[in-house]
Amino acid sequence: MTNSFGRSTVLGYPRIGANRELKRAVEAYWAATIDADELDRTAAALRARVWQTLRDARLDAIPSNTFSYYDHVLDTAVAVGAVPDRFRRLGLSELDTYFAMARGVDAEPALELTKWFATNYHYLVPEIGPDTAFAANPAKPLQEYAEASALGIATRPVLVGPATLLLLAKPDRPGFDPFDRLDDVVDAYADLLAALAEAGVAWVQLDEPAYAADRTAAQIDGLRAAYARLAELAHRPRVFVATYFGELGDALPALVDTPVEAIGLDLVAGPGNLRRLAGAGPLRGTTVVAGLVDGHNVWRTDLRAAIATGAIVTGLADHVAVSTSCSLLHVPVDLSAETRLDPQLVARLSFARQKVDEVVLVGQALRDGTAQLPPPLPDPPAAWRDEQVRARLAAVTPADRRRGPYADRAAAQQARLRLPALPTTTIGSFPQTAALRKARAAVRAGTLDGPGYAGRMRAEVEHVIRLQEDLGLDVLVHGEPERNDMVQYFGEQLAGFAATEHGWVQSYGTRCVRPPIIYGDVRRAAPMTVEWAAFAQSLTARPVKGMLTGPVTILAWSFVRTDQPLADTADQVALALRDECRDLEAAGIAVIQVDEPALRELLPLRAAEQKAYLDWAVGAFRLATSGVADGTQIHTHLCYSEFGDVITAIDALDADVTSIEASRSKMEVLDDLAAIGFGRGVGPGVWDIHSPRVPPLDEVVEALRRAVAAVPARRLWVNPDCGLKTRAYPEVEASLRHLVAAAAEIREG
Ligand code: GLN
Ligand code: ZN
Repeated sequence: MTNSFGRSTVLGYPRIGANRELKRAVEAYWAATIDADELDRTAAALRARVWQTLRDARLDAIPSNTFSYYDHVLDTAVAVGAVPDRFRRLGLSELDTYFAMARGVDAEPALELTKWFATNYHYLVPEIGPDTAFAANPAKPLQEYAEASALGIATRPVLVGPATLLLLAKPDRPGFDPFDRLDDVVDAYADLLAALAEAGVAWVQLDEPAYAADRTAAQIDGLRAAYARLAELAHRPRVFVATYFGELGDALPALVDTPVEAIGLDLVAGPGNLRRLAGAGPLRGTTVVAGLVDGHNVWRTDLRAAIATGAIVTGLADHVAVSTSCSLLHVPVDLSAETRLDPQLVARLSFARQKVDEVVLVGQALRDGTAQLPPPLPDPPAAWRDEQVRARLAAVTPADRRRGPYADRAAAQQARLRLPALPTTTIGSFPQTAALRKARAAVRAGTLDGPGYAGRMRAEVEHVIRLQEDLGLDVLVHGEPERNDMVQYFGEQLAGFAATEHGWVQSYGTRCVRPPIIYGDVRRAAPMTVEWAAFAQSLTARPVKGMLTGPVTILAWSFVRTDQPLADTADQVALALRDECRDLEAAGIAVIQVDEPALRELLPLRAAEQKAYLDWAVGAFRLATSGVADGTQIHTHLCYSEFGDVITAIDALDADVTSIEASRSKMEVLDDLAAIGFGRGVGPGVWDIHSPRVPPLDEVVEALRRAVAAVPARRLWVNPDCGLKTRAYPEVEASLRHLVAAAAEIREG
């Protein structure tokens, strides 16, 4: 029998376009400057380009339905009819209902947004309850399949699998477990599969990455039962269950037990899958799709090692295909667009387009050994090592990661800052206006010089300071106008980091980031933020927060080196930040915020590995922040996730004040903090800044009432969920007025 799956595939490909065309089109649609038809035409052209690219690269199994207007989890929720009534009731078109779920409208807040496993991608959390009326809605996968077929390309539609969809969902009422609806949702998948088969689809890919995390026996049984049932269908495509982001553990034999035709294993993030596969006995008839090319980092694949691993897999199964370890969604589109990177670095990199070539090469080598492999890489240049930084790190002692007792710090800080109860503040950034982005573009184009740019940024800082004074905020920020991005900004100034020109990666919806690449030892050449903070402080008598990005977040939002432990890279970054904190303090800055929104993001999926991670993550934060005096107030900020399983680590950061996303989840995090006896300052977000909606005053008051019930007022801060860079001034002003007024109302009792 021939292997009908094909020899080489990718689990997904970037959908935003090499020049972020999709971002522009979707935002134009939101701004009503283009209509739905034009949006669809742009999207269709982008999809066609991806399929043609993959075909021309000689990939022989090509995915579809990996495109999305906003998020692929939301797409699958829609495909099984999991549209909450609160959105159906709006009576909008299908497309606008979709965007309402993603972004909220005045009348309805959006679905919750949270991290996609250990990546910097965020998905919309499906809301599922006992009454969710699942029903197959195959329109989108069918349309994409038909579009590709019209180009002569037979594709494999991709959906999030039923078990993972429910495991990622949140209940629409307390006390309900969405996984209880597995049988019902599988009915909808059965109908979807039937519709796809009807249209001629030969293979479908169902993604079950949730099984790379710890799962209960019941959840593993659910997985087995779901696929056993789907496999029984009389009329269906062949089923490829893709897993990624780690080792499957007991879910692997469970999947092997089912009659699905193909199983995908991540052999990069989950090398132990190989041993487990060997234990499951030789697979007869089932295709193993071996994830040998890292879809989550930018380093060139060691082709010889990948081929060797592939050869082992070939010994364990009749049919083997080569693939990326996960979707290529997480890496930039094309290395050949980068013209300014050091050639020594370029030689070591591979972006999505290049990774496709690597997959094809490994597939060829495994098939008939004819692949022409490029020569192996020489050792990295000596200049990438910094002996001084290494010596300094070796000399770090536990005392360098410790501050004085909190009570002493709190007293010294209050004596210095004299803040009212429930102090109001923001998280750092103010709107990144078109004028600011234009100024940066002008610098890149050479039409605006350094002093001209700095002058514009200073004018913006002054505007932001005056606005905050006018609004009556207590602790001000400079607004971060000079920062293109909170990690990239530091990456551009630290040795050991490289910035790309076009290396955009989707973060959520139309938001893209350009993660720097950490390739060598990290060193701070000069102060990075002090001039801006000091200038802002010179404009006002109120305290201005110095604003830094923490070591874990810098790592999480960069592409990291894989030749040394992450802990060592984090500590190198921490030393640079420690020097920055001291310089800010010396410049008269009394409050320094070190953002760690990505603390939860790097948390290993398996509980057994989590403690070691949290130890080094907390240690790096404390190394960065423990060099300052008691009277300097250290803030941290966390967002984008459920914090339940990192709550003790948040406490261990030992920040004087922690601001934390809370509004979409209705302050739940405060109960978690109270449960562990968290005893320092906390600012639960009272305004969901991921949506353009202005929270009404009584809603903010209500959120604060809930907060005051959970946290003593003297430790409570009042702030939005996150920075305001993605918002526009009118909604920012209106919302902050409500925030300040709500704080005043609660203070007065
Ligand atoms: N200080 C950053 C800002 O305000 C924090 C952003 C974040 O948490 N993602 O934009
Ligand atoms: Zn945030």
